[in-house]
Amino acid sequence: MEKQEKPHVLVLPYPSQGHINPLGQFANRLVSKGLKATLVTTIFLSKTTQLVSGSVGLETISDGYDDGGFAKAESIEAYLDQIEVVGSRTLGKLIEKQASNGTPVKCLVYDAFFPWGLDLAKRYGIMGVPFFTQPWTVNNIYYHFYHGLLKVPVLDPMVSIPGLVPLRLEDLPGFISSPASYPAYLNMILSQFSNLEKADLVFVNTFEKLEVEVLSWMAKVFPISTIGPTLPSMYLDKRIEDDKNYGLNLYKPNNSACMNWLNTREPGSVVYVSFGSMAVLGDEQMEELAWGLRDSNSYFLWVVRSTEEEKLPCKFLEETSEKGLVVNWSPQLNVLAHPAVGCFVTHCGWNSVLEALSLGVPMVGLPQWSDQPTNAMLVEDIWGVGVRAEINEKGMVTRKEIELCIREITEGNRGKEMKRNAKKWRELAIEAVDDGGTSDNSINEFVLKLVYN
Ligand code: UDP
Repeated sequence: MEKQEKPHVLVLPYPSQGHINPLGQFANRLVSKGLKATLVTTIFLSKTTQLVSGSVGLETISDGYDDGGFAKAESIEAYLDQIEVVGSRTLGKLIEKQASNGTPVKCLVYDAFFPWGLDLAKRYGIMGVPFFTQPWTVNNIYYHFYHGLLKVPVLDPMVSIPGLVPLRLEDLPGFISSPASYPAYLNMILSQFSNLEKADLVFVNTFEKLEVEVLSWMAKVFPISTIGPTLPSMYLDKRIEDDKNYGLNLYKPNNSACMNWLNTREPGSVVYVSFGSMAVLGDEQMEELAWGLRDSNSYFLWVVRSTEEEKLPCKFLEETSEKGLVVNWSPQLNVLAHPAVGCFVTHCGWNSVLEALSLGVPMVGLPQWSDQPTNAMLVEDIWGVGVRAEINEKGMVTRKEIELCIREITEGNRGKEMKRNAKKWRELAIEAVDDGGTSDNSINEFVLKLVYN
């Protein structure tokens, strides 16, 4: 076997924050293991944001919308069609360019939302590995749906799926519980399984102890390799500096405002609130959330993206200025790692859940769509690190419910148990990525495969 110096891996995320973060962090991990890794983003993103990727190289491809990105596409279908045609062509050119530059690509790690990545890799005779950014519990539900083993509409009160606890309809991903709402997103999600049996390896941003049964069940079907949590190790060590954060933000975080404010608060006294990069709350829901936060009487740091700002009730900022800070984007990892933060009100996007779990912060879940309802179920029922807020008959979470959920974590006995559980999961997350841990071993095996093949 011939050993090649620094095998080169291209890493292709779906161009949104919740995908760039885990794939970018994973690329960094590969570099720390002695590989050369290049993160591939779109021309549009490179024009509009300043991605700082540490030791990872950055290259761009065209998604067919260089002057406006996704927002310029007529529909999600149009965007996906275009990125498949234009993206795979320009990515192919990039692979050729790397070969002629003397840094030939040995492997393409592609976002599982782009199953064409595998066909492209095979065409160029390189290894292709899909990267799933959602937990395997969720992927297992989609897998069963894809193969017609889960019928919708779901008529039974509880759904049984191998490897999972019985699920209520409202625990299923939104794309399955109401498939007519987002047909294009559902198709995209299902396309992840279209050629998966041809993949030599399947990366998932999770760790073994988090999803033991479903992973061992699925290991019979696919060569799953758990590599998470992908958080940079400095966060797991809590050796972070206030003014630095891992630089893959598509939005500009307000570091000093957040960290200076947190530095003046008592340990565990702050509720951090964020709904990630995509979720859009209705006006009334936003108002209930705002007054629920005020009524909880806790200090709070709330991320309200600029596009959502006008939904804040008038007088809210004025009335809560002693208690709260509202910013448009935060350095979330730094915030969750800060000792002042004792509770996280979240939409339960998978990155947010995994970050909170790895940093030992209990959660109040207000899931909105996609995989979030299932993630919220895992948080409360399986891992015991949070509560999900109840939705009323009008489909809303009331201010009273928000206040009670926050108080349950910050004041109640159940909150103490959740904090103990959160601490335990944090230790297990660290164990998984530490030397000799399950996720670390998976990455080492991948590296060896590349070095010696
Ligand atoms: N995030 C951040 N600052 C914020 C809000 C979110 O850095 O103010 C990051 C967060 O750490 C996470 C990602 O954005 O890595 C959001 O991903 P998630 O899967 O939680 O939600 P999505 O945005 O995909 O709905």
